[in-house]
Amino acid sequence: MAITPLMPVYPRSPVRPVRGEGVYLYGEQGEQYLDFASGIAVNLLGHGHPHLTKAIQEQAATLIHVSNLYGSPQGEKLAQRLVDATFADTVFFTNSGAEAVECTIKTARRYHHHHGNPHRSVLITFSNAFHGRTMATISATNQEKLRDGFAPLLPGFTVVEFDNLAEAEAAITEHTAGFLVEPIQGEGGIRPASAEFMKGLRRLADEHDLMLVLDEVQCGVARTGKLYAYEHYGIEPDILATAKGIGGGFPLGACLATEKAAVGMVVGTHGSTYGGNPLAMAAGQAVLDVVAAPEFLDHVTRMGERLRGALEQMIPNHDHLFESVRGVGLMLGIKMKTDSRAFVTYLRDHGLLTVAAGDNVMRVLPPLVIEESHVTEFVERLSEAARRYEVPQAA
Ligand code: PLP
Repeated sequence: MAITPLMPVYPRSPVRPVRGEGVYLYGEQGEQYLDFASGIAVNLLGHGHPHLTKAIQEQAATLIHVSNLYGSPQGEKLAQRLVDATFADTVFFTNSGAEAVECTIKTARRYHHHHGNPHRSVLITFSNAFHGRTMATISATNQEKLRDGFAPLLPGFTVVEFDNLAEAEAAITEHTAGFLVEPIQGEGGIRPASAEFMKGLRRLADEHDLMLVLDEVQCGVARTGKLYAYEHYGIEPDILATAKGIGGGFPLGACLATEKAAVGMVVGTHGSTYGGNPLAMAAGQAVLDVVAAPEFLDHVTRMGERLRGALEQMIPNHDHLFESVRGVGLMLGIKMKTDSRAFVTYLRDHGLLTVAAGDNVMRVLPPLVIEESHVTEFVERLSEAARRYEVPQAA
């Protein structure tokens, strides 16, 4: 048999972590890696954080799972905290980002259905977006590599150019339900939308009774120095998908919505066996205990400035490799002049973990608990690697 027991859908690297401690991962032979990838923006508290570990251990010993047919004191508590801390009035818990986005799509469509407009089902989405790997979420992007071989895709999505307000406006028809957008594209290459664009989408949504749906699966949960990235833009969405960091590594996501937007999400319209289970709720509580504190958000902003400043200082020394730094807080990307994937592989082989993204960008997504010493270590090691790196010659 040629196929591997793990379905071979990932190009898995030789890094095989078996243990983590703080901002470091350790492989089977004890090799150490400085983890500035964080499981792709997931391990906000690093590895083995005592508060998160204790919360999960205690809840696991108390109650792991019950059905959503029963009352959920744990879910009510976490939902209330998210409602208090955000634009939202109500929360549906999921186990992943794609499921959270699915719920946002259903909520947006259901809003118009409730108001007697079931034909208003189309979401306007944006080029190079990434919303997940389910059928609906691959249908919501124009990235061919995600869609290849999976036809027929779902109807109900119109893709226009990211950060182009005129195109978004021109795409509105009597079938439009709303906009679905990442305020800062992650997989697409750490591309922050402009303030004019985000404010413009909000205005268009208000003018046309559309749902403004934000996918903050990657940029949310304190990564940018605000609990959610929309706060940087001075706007509020109607519906928002969050996941990744919200469980600190425990599978957890959520769809947040205003009361107005969730008007159609009544009993029987949606569900999930595992969504909101007590163990996930305990993980979510523990993460919020740490990251929602104003001092912690200030820490993220400060570390983001340090890291960005140090990277910007380094770039002129290696300007054959690096072009510029972009991003917000600790969601940073280095736009490269050579193939970012090859360089990420080289760094990995030298004990530094980063993540490649679209547009030839190397993502730098450290745990949010990093200290200045980690910033210094990362930039020194990156600089050293850049000095030694021999750019592969094109075949
Ligand atoms: N949305 C965004 C912006 C993402 O970055 C991702 C994952 O990378 C997803 C959705 C999908 O999340 P998940 O892989 O947890 O389904």
